[in-house]
Amino acid sequence: MRNFIPISRPSITDIEITFLNNAIKSGWVSSIGEYINRFEDDFANFCGTKYALTTSNGTVALHLALVALNIKVDDEVIIPDFSFIATANAVSYTGAKVIFCDIDKDTLCLNEKQLKSLITSKTKAIIPVHIYGMPSNMQEITKIAREHGIYVIEDAAEAHGAEINGQKVGSFGDCGVFSFYGNKIITTGEGGMVTTDNIEIYNKMKKLRDHAMSPEKRYWHDEIGYNYRMTNIQAALGYAQLTRIEEIISRKIEIYKRYAENMKSVNGVLLRNTTNANVKSVYWMICIEIIKCDEQTRDLIMNSLGEKGIDSRPYFYPISDMPMYSSAHTPNTHEISTRGLNLPTYFDIKDEEIDYVCDELKLIVAELQCG
Ligand SMILES: *Cc1c(COP(=O)(O)O)cnc(C)c1O
Repeated sequence: MRNFIPISRPSITDIEITFLNNAIKSGWVSSIGEYINRFEDDFANFCGTKYALTTSNGTVALHLALVALNIKVDDEVIIPDFSFIATANAVSYTGAKVIFCDIDKDTLCLNEKQLKSLITSKTKAIIPVHIYGMPSNMQEITKIAREHGIYVIEDAAEAHGAEINGQKVGSFGDCGVFSFYGNKIITTGEGGMVTTDNIEIYNKMKKLRDHAMSPEKRYWHDEIGYNYRMTNIQAALGYAQLTRIEEIISRKIEIYKRYAENMKSVNGVLLRNTTNANVKSVYWMICIEIIKCDEQTRDLIMNSLGEKGIDSRPYFYPISDMPMYSSAHTPNTHEISTRGLNLPTYFDIKDEEIDYVCDELKLIVAELQCG
């Protein structure tokens, strides 16, 4: 019997274990410690930003950035309809209204052509999401934002290390937000990071992260803040992972290439890839769409894969379809999300396991005649 092939699994090696041991033995188990400083410094370096601030997870990293940029009730924030729910929820925590933008059919990211038509006098920020590791069109989005005096927060939770013209995502907007959940490019268990080049935004976020305690007077608070801190133990894991990030991303690219080679012979299946001369995707998760497929058939395919011991997951659903948000006219999101799924993409997956996934997929697609 073949081993179960999960969709994702973190790669933990000796260096992670060593740094974790060091952190615990040092006694610095909460949110002060050397690993916090090192992880923040090196992550800022990695992204090419001046500052980086660790947080307890990616969702609160988004919230922290929004609060620091003074987003509040009655403001409007534009996000792509195709994302993980956290992007929308973080906006809702501020009381601002979520405005859904459709996605581009080629990049699966925010459609910058529709963006302009959604901007009103209430629009305060745009959150482009680098979905599944594929960069958004940041040149256009930042240009439009600048013309209208709107902030840009990049949701790079799935795209650590992705690049546009050699520049890392998370360094284009006013803030960049990352997640280190167990299935992300690198992990701290739970964890997040906000990057920025702006010292004022940085200081504001740093204060708010720690109950808005006055930097001059301990235990004096002049506004309501949060406990959004990461622990030194988590940072030890994150810092170890960061020393290996190039290796991890290289493996993701190899995995993509292996899938691509195999998929050549699978009819009717589109394998997503936005890498070109200017854009580098980090292939957080392999994305495929079955061209002649409705949602039911897609779910049948996932079930059949599961019976063969192969894990998969559906594309995100349009957030605007969910009961707590209001519906939006986003045809690309609606069309693509129903026929897409993600396949196993993790550092330790073996080449022959990728081949097996593709062979089984080929059979299932042929059997269901949806290729
Ligand atoms: C994972 C993720 C988040 C939230 O990160 P958590 O660390 O899980 O809170 C936000 N946005 C996107 C696009 C994500 O994939």
